[in-house]
Amino acid sequence: MSSEAANTVMLTTKCSSGCTHCPFSSPDLEKLFLSPAMVQKIMSQHPERLAVLSGGEPFEHPEISEILKNLSKQTIPFRIATGGFVDLTPWINKLKFLSRPTGTLQGISMGTDVLSSRVNHSKWAPIWKNNIRLFFESQIPYSLTFSIGPDLDFTRLNLWKWTDLFDGKPEFIYLRYSKKELLQEWLHKIQSNFEAIPIIQDDIFPYS
Ligand code: SF4
Repeated sequence: MSSEAANTVMLTTKCSSGCTHCPFSSPDLEKLFLSPAMVQKIMSQHPERLAVLSGGEPFEHPEISEILKNLSKQTIPFRIATGGFVDLTPWINKLKFLSRPTGTLQGISMGTDVLSSRVNHSKWAPIWKNNIRLFFESQIPYSLTFSIGPDLDFTRLNLWKWTDLFDGKPEFIYLRYSKKELLQEWLHKIQSNFEAIPIIQDDIFPYS
C-alpha cells in the first residue's frame, strides 16, 4: 500500500442502504455519477497514489461494469470501498481478475454500518455475509471498516459471533472514530474478536 495520502474517487453520491446517520441517505442529496472516462482521468492525475473508489455505493453506479473493465487496462493500485449490501455475485469474477497479484486491486474495504443496530439490517446482513464468503472463496483481499459513533452497536445480530465467516480473515481493520472516549472500548472489542489482525486508526470521521 502506498505511503502517500490516498486519492479518493467518489464514483457516485447514490447509496440506497438507508443508514440514518449518513449524509448519503439524505433524500435531498442529488444522485451524481462520474462517467467511466472521468474515473480514469481522476485516477491518472495522481498515479503515485493509491486510488480509493468510493461512494455513496460504488456498486450502485449504473456503469460499474464499464468502470471495472477500464480498471483492468491501467496500472494504478486501487481499493474499492463498499457498504457491502449489494450482492457482488455478478462482479466477483471480474474482481478476482482485477485483484493482486496479477491485477492492481489491492482489496475491498467492507463497511459495517449496514449491520449495526442503527439500520434495519435484516435484509442486508445475509447479502453482506455472502459477499465476505465470495471474497474468501475467490481469494480477494478485503478489510473491514468500523465507523465508531455513540450510537453504533451490533447487538441485534452479534457480529462478533460470526467466527466461521471470519476464518477467511480480513487483511486489516480500519477504525474511524469521532469520540476518543469510545476508542478504547472498541479497540478491546475488535482485538478480542480479531486477535492478530492489524488495526489502522483514523480520527477523521464526518458524521459526528
Ligand atoms: S452504506 Fe455507507 S455510504 Fe451508504 S448510507 Fe450507509 S454509511 Fe452511508
